[in-house]
Amino acid sequence: MIHFDHVSKEYRDNGNGVTLALDDISLGIERGEFASIVGHSGAGKTTLLKMLFAEEAPSTGTVYFEERDVHTLPEKEIPTLRRRIGTVFQDFKLLPGKTAYENIAFAMEAAGRTDAEIAADVPQALELVDLEDKIWNFPHQLSGGERQRVAIARAIINQPDLLIADEPTGNLDPINTQDIVNILRKINELGTTILLTTHNKGVIDSLGKRVITMDEGKIARDDTKGRYVL
Ligand code: ADP
Repeated sequence: MIHFDHVSKEYRDNGNGVTLALDDISLGIERGEFASIVGHSGAGKTTLLKMLFAEEAPSTGTVYFEERDVHTLPEKEIPTLRRRIGTVFQDFKLLPGKTAYENIAFAMEAAGRTDAEIAADVPQALELVDLEDKIWNFPHQLSGGERQRVAIARAIINQPDLLIADEPTGNLDPINTQDIVNILRKINELGTTILLTTHNKGVIDSLGKRVITMDEGKIARDDTKGRYVL
């Protein structure tokens, strides 16, 4: 589904220095996988993820998403690519003036879905994250864990092929963290490919799934049923 073929990325800062953020990465992720990427800050995790939705381009090498070279896609196909990838971040990124329902509905409107589809799908998505009783709450009326569950419902509402969860539990306590992990696992079991980055050893060890360890822009380890080793 995803294939990085000898991908390197250099960042140049105002003519001063050059940072090699990705150093000859070759990597494949199959449809239906649940893979975690771990590594110290600066290891290149974010850069790797940005390549997938064409937010950054490789300096050399090629990134394929479903056989298509992401960085030679015509400009008008980029929004379609991005709609196939749901994203969840540490800081939730919910719209503060909108309810849980409206935050999710907004993502469906942007994808051109009808009012009837929205009315049918939003409650189902909130049920999947076990939050149907908070449907009319605004973000400030939700706990951190609940906000992240709304963000996950929003990320999957348009049935993406891939869900990228970038440090989704970074702001949560252990109980909420475990809830989020269980929800991600459930979404994966329903068929969505998941790419997770985390610094949380407990999350990685409880998942028992593939772990890709990055270090200084390289893949230092790639273990099928990995544990957190840094
Ligand atoms: P991680 O997500 O693992 O913390 P990043 O991919 O954010 O790592 O960063 C990898 C390296 O690239 C770091 O050394 C970082 O400072 C550098 N870097 C990231 N983004 C930029 C940028 N826009 N300009 C210059 N350097 C960058």
